[in-house]
Amino acid sequence: MSTLMTERVTHVHHWNDTLFSFRTTRDPGYRFKNGHFTMIGLPSDGKPLMRAYSITSANHENELEFFSIKVPDGALTSKLQNLAVGDEVLVGKRSTGTLIPDNMLPGRYLYLLCTGTGLAPFMSIIKDPEIYDQFDRVILAHGVRQISELAYADYIENVLPNDEYMGEIVREKLVYYPTVTREPFKNNGRLTTLMSSGKLFLDLDQPYPNLEDDRFMICGSPSMLKELVDMLEARSFIEARNVKPGHFVIERAFVES
Ligand SMILES: Cc1cc2nc3c(=O)[nH]c(=O)nc-3n(C[C@H](O)[C@H](O)[C@H](O)COP(=O)(O)OP(=O)(O)OC[C@H]3O[C@@H](n4cnc5c(N)ncnc54)[C@H](O)[C@@H]3O)c2cc1C
Repeated sequence: MSTLMTERVTHVHHWNDTLFSFRTTRDPGYRFKNGHFTMIGLPSDGKPLMRAYSITSANHENELEFFSIKVPDGALTSKLQNLAVGDEVLVGKRSTGTLIPDNMLPGRYLYLLCTGTGLAPFMSIIKDPEIYDQFDRVILAHGVRQISELAYADYIENVLPNDEYMGEIVREKLVYYPTVTREPFKNNGRLTTLMSSGKLFLDLDQPYPNLEDDRFMICGSPSMLKELVDMLEARSFIEARNVKPGHFVIERAFVES
């Protein structure tokens, strides 16, 4: 039995020259957890060319959505960025990943820290009503270089808080903290620096993180992950591993070649 499904593109949106999102049909039998990633791809020279992708849509939605980089000369993304409505995309039947609420010890404040396309799994998580039952405040901090890379900002700030079913709880509990490193913006600086200096917590009016209350899900470049893990472990936060819940979980937004 094939491990891949063929889905059809229903919508494409280009955020800028380097980022785009697209939606596809969803097999009604397809199951995944919010925060999971799967393999997606296109046929190439008669065989599937597949890459890992976080699922941006929530598991209660009728379509699948993905948020993608356009790597110049990237084997997959140089083709994927030309997708148009009606095109076919291959989607893996199996999904997996560490960025799931089940991996977190109980706590009060959940930080979703991401850079670049590391936002993708958290778009699914912030649409999950259960996350707001688990935590008093859910803080989504997204670090990018240019303002145009703040994909989904309008959705997070204006659409989700007015959602018919989730709007009220989102307005009460979700906090969005976008930050930009290479041009002036209301928040500037790398997430790692904003964390180590404590500015992030001051800006958010949050107490300095402690083991009892604070939980972290992190998705970004390998170097960003390393810096944040070192920072958290130096303060005795423990990573969830082998189905043992912890204070934080990490996932690479991509692998460096
Ligand atoms: C668990 C996991 C989840 C992922 N989820 C996503 C996702 O939701 N969206 C997404 O766009 N990519 C995601 N990726 C990366 C993705 O698998 C591919 O690397 C990406 O689509 C580029 O494919 P490519 O064949 O064009 O280039 P590749 O040959 O795969 O990559 C070439 C180089 O481009 C850089 N690169 C690749 N992906 C990125 C990225 N996302 N951001 C910045 N630099 C990058 C790296 O330096 C890499 O070595 C994920 C990777 C992993 C491991």
